[in-house]
Amino acid sequence: MLLVDTHSHIYLEQYDADRTQVINAALEKGIRKILLPNIDTVSIEPVNQLVKAYPEVCVAMMGLHPTSVKENYSDEFRIIQKEMMSGNYIAIGEIGIDLYWDKSRLREQCMIFEQELDMALQMNKPVVIHARESFDVIFEILQKYKGSGLRGIFHAFSGSPGQALHVIENDFLIGIGGIVTYRKSGLDKVMQEVDLNHIVLETDSPFLPPVPCRGNRNEPAFLIYIAEAVARLKSVDVTEVASVTTGNACRLFGLNMENKR
Ligand SMILES: [Zn+2]
Repeated sequence: MLLVDTHSHIYLEQYDADRTQVINAALEKGIRKILLPNIDTVSIEPVNQLVKAYPEVCVAMMGLHPTSVKENYSDEFRIIQKEMMSGNYIAIGEIGIDLYWDKSRLREQCMIFEQELDMALQMNKPVVIHARESFDVIFEILQKYKGSGLRGIFHAFSGSPGQALHVIENDFLIGIGGIVTYRKSGLDKVMQEVDLNHIVLETDSPFLPPVPCRGNRNEPAFLIYIAEAVARLKSVDVTEVASVTTGNACRLFGLNMENKR
């Protein structure tokens, strides 16, 4: 069984003491690739260092996270833009709009988001979208890109079945993480509506740990609990969840799973 953790922040300091063990634990569970979304200019170096240390497992994206769009956003974005163009990044991420933490910079968040979408199109790369209390705003923006070939993931999806169908109609994939294991998430209904062909798995480590690891630091090895929860909700074998979602991730990102360690 081969899995891809399509969203993990294991370059953060929470893993400084045991990063090698964390990666080995993931490999033991069949997690062959760990995709690293960038957050801001400070995280660029740790992301790149980790890819250098584990080139067959860790894969980097580049983007400015919406909660990092602060006063100095134009300086931050200039640096990140330069990095996107010079570095060898598999996707533009994570990007998007977050109106949960701060509503005051909606205009700036939208502006940066659109520039990042434009860059993704120009560079023919997928995007990884963070949407928090911002579905409608994001879909309004995505309308402008209809038919453009823009593709990607709505990561840490926690929306309604209707929103999930909207994601699919826009040719995006749904990133399913630990939330699917939470009893009142409502994702059981989403799972009934959505075919496995539209789903990729992710942990969002160190955030959103799945049951039975709630309250702990999340890590890529826990992706197995997410795969098992999806399998239960879809009434299929976990190996089928693994093969379909891994196939989806490989197609979107052009990943090569042949590199064995
Ligand atoms: Zn993230």
